[in-house]
Amino acid sequence: PKGQAAMGLAVKAADRAHVFHSWSAQSLIDPLAIAGAGGSYFWDYDDKRYLDFSSQLVNTNIGHQHPKVVAAIQEQAAKLCTIAPGFAVDVRSVAARLIAELAPGDLNKVFFTNGGAEAVENAVRMARLHTGRHKVFAAYRSYHGATSAAINLTGDPRRWPSDNGSAGVVHFWGPHLYRSNFHATTEAEECERALAHLEQTIAYEGPQSVAAIILETVVGTAGVLVPPPGYLEGVRAICDKYGIVFILDEVMAGFGRTGRWFAADNWGVVPDLMTFAKGVNSGYVPLGGVIISERIAETFATRPYPGGLTYSGHPLACASAVATINAMRDEGIVENAAEIGETVLGPGLRELAERHPCVGEVRGLGAFWALDLVKDRETREPLVPYNASGADNRSMADLAAACKQRGLWPFVNMNRLHVVPPCTVTEAEAKEGLAILDEALSVADAHCA
Ligand code: PLP
Repeated sequence: PKGQAAMGLAVKAADRAHVFHSWSAQSLIDPLAIAGAGGSYFWDYDDKRYLDFSSQLVNTNIGHQHPKVVAAIQEQAAKLCTIAPGFAVDVRSVAARLIAELAPGDLNKVFFTNGGAEAVENAVRMARLHTGRHKVFAAYRSYHGATSAAINLTGDPRRWPSDNGSAGVVHFWGPHLYRSNFHATTEAEECERALAHLEQTIAYEGPQSVAAIILETVVGTAGVLVPPPGYLEGVRAICDKYGIVFILDEVMAGFGRTGRWFAADNWGVVPDLMTFAKGVNSGYVPLGGVIISERIAETFATRPYPGGLTYSGHPLACASAVATINAMRDEGIVENAAEIGETVLGPGLRELAERHPCVGEVRGLGAFWALDLVKDRETREPLVPYNASGADNRSMADLAAACKQRGLWPFVNMNRLHVVPPCTVTEAEAKEGLAILDEALSVADAHCA
């Protein structure tokens, strides 16, 4: 309808006039005006529907507008909108208990934040105070957030403009067989050499100076890199050997994304600190946090923890987390992610790789997949150069446009297309998305050898 289209234009005009957008050259962007969303879809003011294969920023694990979560936020708003972090309040206590019960091992205390970056900041602060050491090891091919410590830990180009000399951060290479830094030809070789590289780097940095190693359990934005068997266990052993705190960043991988509540559950690994955000409440209200082991919590039993946030454990955010976790449990949403990954997305994407020469590798699990796109399957040269922009990035931009034109909202990063629908995605929706990708990938095929 005409009136609706006019409303969309007004929304966009006001956005362009006053909203300053993340990560963008302000005059070069053209944000789509959104009228609404539900389940696996969102739509614009022209009634064009998009199948959300990005889960926004990989956060709507429970889909859009889940009625039980919406109702919980409404009920909590009527009861108690806000209260300072120093008070004990029912909904915060329940959220912390549910999260602690789901978390592995002795991760039993929860420090709440407003999102992922603040969770990482506080995990690093805890590790430094607990050990009395300063250096933190983080991987190249990682993203940990956009605040000061988190962006300096990040191992991709988003760090470069904000790099403060990466004070106290040492970057190392994690395992990634398809683009091995270790000339490995098998997963076992890659794992063994990546662990040897990490331990040797620690030896040269001085183990007594290393507070923590932080890793994304499954690397997210930097490529959906699933660690080979034995890698996380090996890092755990290195941390134990040198008294280093092991931090797993589960901001993207946690809460169902990999088909388990936490990605660490896939390998039975227990870190000392675990960060979460996104899927904990699908981002309906901003929420993140750090889940803390008994041993580290003990450090702050009689010594004050020097960190806090006005909105730590915000009641609306906690109410939405409680409702999200309960709904995910009652509706088998984590199991659905595992099942869809194994029976539809994995096989479907591998089939696309057979038909499309631009697909170099398919990797992932659960509702967490990436297509690594190449110019040439033999040389594995990425379809676009590392950190390409403008004309150099044309083929990826064309691919994204082809998806959107056909009603699929993709997640694109460098030479990769990530397939990250909500964990609630149905078989029919997943197949609808795969069919669109099949058509859109032909656009990328035209750019390869
Ligand atoms: N850590 C990981 C693994 C992430 O993927 C992200 C966001 O994408 C963050 C941290 C930062 O989270 P936030 O954007 O909520 O600050």
